[in-house]
Amino acid sequence: MIVRRRWTAAATTAILVSAVLSHPGPGSAAPAAPANPITLAATETALVRVQLRDQAQLDRLVATGADLANRPRARDGRILADLVLSGTQLADLTAQGATAVQIVQRAGDGSRHFAESVRAAQTRTRAGLRAPASGQRTTAAAAAVDTLQVQQAYWWTTSGQTFLQAQLATTATDDPDVEITVSWRTADGATGSFPLSRFEDSGEYQYHYALPQPVPSRPVQLTATSSLGGVSRAVTPSLWPNAAPPALPAGYQKDFIDAYLTPVDIQARIKRLARQYRDLVDVIDLPNQTQGYRRNAAAYLGDPAVAAVVVESVRFGDQGMNGVQVRTVDPGRRNRPLTVSYRDRVLTVTLATDTAGKTVSTTDEVAAAINARQPNRFRATVEDGSAGLPMPVAGPARLDDGLQGTEVPARPWTVQALRLGVHRDGSRVGVLAYSQEHAREWATPLVTLEFAERMLANARTDPATRELLEQVDVFVIPTVNPDGANYSFNDFNFQRKNLVNHCVGPARDPKNRTSWGVDINRNYTVGSYFDGYVGASANCLSGSYAGTAELSEAESRNVVALAESHPNIKFAMNVHSYGGYFMWPPGAYRADGRITLPRPSIDESTLFLNSARRIVGAIAQERGTVTWPSQTGPVADVLYSAAGNSADQLYYELGIFAWDFEVGNDRWNATTGEWEGVGFQPPFDEAHGEAQEYAGGLVEMVRVARDYAAAQAATG
Ligand SMILES: [Zn+2]
Repeated sequence: MIVRRRWTAAATTAILVSAVLSHPGPGSAAPAAPANPITLAATETALVRVQLRDQAQLDRLVATGADLANRPRARDGRILADLVLSGTQLADLTAQGATAVQIVQRAGDGSRHFAESVRAAQTRTRAGLRAPASGQRTTAAAAAVDTLQVQQAYWWTTSGQTFLQAQLATTATDDPDVEITVSWRTADGATGSFPLSRFEDSGEYQYHYALPQPVPSRPVQLTATSSLGGVSRAVTPSLWPNAAPPALPAGYQKDFIDAYLTPVDIQARIKRLARQYRDLVDVIDLPNQTQGYRRNAAAYLGDPAVAAVVVESVRFGDQGMNGVQVRTVDPGRRNRPLTVSYRDRVLTVTLATDTAGKTVSTTDEVAAAINARQPNRFRATVEDGSAGLPMPVAGPARLDDGLQGTEVPARPWTVQALRLGVHRDGSRVGVLAYSQEHAREWATPLVTLEFAERMLANARTDPATRELLEQVDVFVIPTVNPDGANYSFNDFNFQRKNLVNHCVGPARDPKNRTSWGVDINRNYTVGSYFDGYVGASANCLSGSYAGTAELSEAESRNVVALAESHPNIKFAMNVHSYGGYFMWPPGAYRADGRITLPRPSIDESTLFLNSARRIVGAIAQERGTVTWPSQTGPVADVLYSAAGNSADQLYYELGIFAWDFEVGNDRWNATTGEWEGVGFQPPFDEAHGEAQEYAGGLVEMVRVARDYAAAQAATG
């Protein structure tokens, strides 16, 4: 089923392709500079947790096209960010005062973790140890200058360690220097304290908060004081999430994922499920085929370090254009004009000569001549920095699309959805789970496929699961962005976007190959970049490039088409990684005044939060992972503004209760006292754990939908 692939680590990126801004430890000490500074080879790319010097440094990164996958967090004016960058870029940042604190993932780690997962799966299969395993496995007191209001105070226990998290607001909103300290007491009398950090977003004060703090046992009292003399009232922290799903019945089947899955593997899995559970499954071919794992073939004519023209094929490389040659020649005669000819798969540009027989064509003239004479076959642009230079005699150079994957069909791709249920006729409330809008988030299709197979396998053996599939119509799109995912597995593991290159001019230089594509989760129509909302880019090389227009991409049109053609869908989950978030609309705001999309009504907000607690409780059932209360809420409040995202599309356009998971919660390192990020492509054991726990969360979403439909029927 899985065959050997060629693995390459595409090395350099012209600009930052990603910036995952993550939580520094307000409360936990900001990480000290390591004794041995973390460095990368100049052309090596890695995901690095970096402590930035200040907000200005962050702003510069964002301005140069960084995309944010977690929200910025400040402590003492410093910010911790997870950035995908090259050694050169890291060195630049370090020279400007930043400090690297953790290599979350190196470029080669993804392919190594993939290969390890496949090897391990093959070993298990040979040994006959096949999955599935079955069975269990607040008002404030007045104060001197300011008043403090406790917004959140929660505690929970995970893996034997109790944590406390608090969020407060001061009335001194404009004072950036006000310091707030939280004090706690446990039932057996232990006490302690920790500082909070001010959180501003888009220039506006939001609140003060800290990362979850370890405490020795259940906290029973929390108070806070401010440096201005403010004192909060004492509160009793609440248990989070304080909701647990029904216990799994004996014989409940799970653990259907034993390796990372490429889009080709996912296609095979969909086919197998449809065959195995014929009575419960439809496969839906979504209407918009993607470009496929294909790209135009390109070459430098000349030397980019001296003078060059970029020549590319109009058709894709696999359409007979890989291997086509291009050259410039000296006619060897005086007074010749510039000519272009194409014969036997060789594009020949004969340079113009003067009265002495010397070649006189410039780079601009050569590019213009190719575009004028061979517009149906070739496009030429002057390489950035080569404008107006004399064109050398060069070549032949071979055009190539640069794609390394040999096991991926080079043709348009049909994205597929699974539909699961006993009654797949629109008569039951619908739930949609979709994953891998972002190509590099390899754990996310594992979550949705584990969920789908759990529902199907247990429907035959577990009456409660059968009843769920009697009452709910379940839709699953395991990989929304298969082309980008194929590229992530075969060529450049940090690929986030799709493979469609909308760049024009010098940005089409093949040196930018790993930065092309559209961010699918910024390409929708609600609260979009095109409407003036924050959190997407018009720069085709940016990690959060919004596309040429709303819904310019087949991938995003497919999600909309599925939801629109099945109006019974009332709940949706958009599965991303990483960071451990549970979010809902509004997901975007305008920069000026930070005006968000409309807030849900009180009733809907209550439904969002109560359902979230149930789903967070179900996630925790697997291995104790608790999604923090500070990361549970509206996208615009707990993460950042994401203009044109799909959850807002589904909620505001179609009235669907639309959530987002960021799977892959930070893990607590008791030795260092730090929360550690897991990255996009962790060692398979971690990805497997994420798939198991978040699949449980999706099952709970199905129960939420069933309960919602039952309540509607009772009242309606
Ligand atoms: Zn994502």
